[in-house]
Amino acid sequence: MRPFLFSALSLALFPLAAFSQPKGWNDPFPPFRIMDNLYYVGTKELASYLFVTPQGNILMNSDYESSVPVIKESVEKLGFKFSDIKILVAGHAHPDHVEGDALVKELTGAQVVVGRLDADKTREFRPGGKEHPIDRLVDEFDTVSLGGTTLTAHLMPGHTRGCLAWSTTLKEDGKSYYTFIECSLNGQFLQVLDNYPGMIDDFRATFKKARTFPVEVFLSSHASFFNLAEKYDKLQKRAPGDPNPFVDPEGYKAHVDQYEKSFEAAVAKREAQGANKGGPGAGKGQ
Ligand SMILES: [Zn+2]
Repeated sequence: MRPFLFSALSLALFPLAAFSQPKGWNDPFPPFRIMDNLYYVGTKELASYLFVTPQGNILMNSDYESSVPVIKESVEKLGFKFSDIKILVAGHAHPDHVEGDALVKELTGAQVVVGRLDADKTREFRPGGKEHPIDRLVDEFDTVSLGGTTLTAHLMPGHTRGCLAWSTTLKEDGKSYYTFIECSLNGQFLQVLDNYPGMIDDFRATFKKARTFPVEVFLSSHASFFNLAEKYDKLQKRAPGDPNPFVDPEGYKAHVDQYEKSFEAAVAKREAQGANKGGPGAGKGQ
C-alpha cells in the first residue's frame, strides 16, 4: 500500500520543509500600501496584510513567531500602532502562517479568527509551550467586519483541510476591485502535506472552485505565489494613469493553472511510486 511508503517519506521531509524556517523567508520587505486601506506588512516570503479602519485594524497571518517582530516593525514604519490590531485572521494551519498567533495576541489583545476545519491542527502550534489562542471559529461564507471593511471566508481545502481564502472589495480612483487573498494551492510537495483522507479529491474540487472567483486584485499567503517583488517594483515606478500592478486577473488564472499542473504531476509521481513498490524498480530513486 502506498501509505506506508508515503509516511516514510513524510518523516524524512516534513521537518525540513515545514518545521524549520527556510532561509530568507523572514527577511524584511518594505511595507507599502497595496490599494485603498490594505497594506503589505509581511516578510520577503511570508505574506501578512493589514486592513486599516477607523475602528482599529485587521491583521491577516502572524507567520512564524519569529516573524512577528518583523511584521510589527513594518506596521510601525507605515505609521500605525501594532496595538491597534483588533482582529487577527488566519489563512491556514501551517506554522509559517499561524505560529505567531499567541505572540500577536499577547502584544495586541486581538481577537484570533481561525477556520473551524483547521482549528485542531492550528492548536498544535505552541511556540515555547504557549497555548494557541483561538477566539472565533469560522466556516465558509462567514465574514469578519471592522470599521467598514468586510472579509468573506472561502473554504479551499487540499493544502490543509480547512484552508481559507478571503475576499473583499477595494476601491481606487472611483473603481471597485474584487480582491482575493488566496489560501494556498500548493500541492506539489504532497509528502509534506497532511494527506488526510479525501485530500486529492478536495484539491481537485478546489482547483475548479478557484476558477469561479472574479479575481481582480490577486494576493496570497506566500509572496512568491503572486510575484510580490516584481509588482512592488512596478508600483514604485507607477506613473499617474498606469494600472495598479496588483490588479492581475490573468496572473491569478495562470497561477491556478500552474499549481494544478504541479499538483497533478505530484499525484502521478506518487502513484507511479506506489505501483513500483515491491516491483522490479523498487528502492530506486525517490
Ligand atoms: Zn502552507
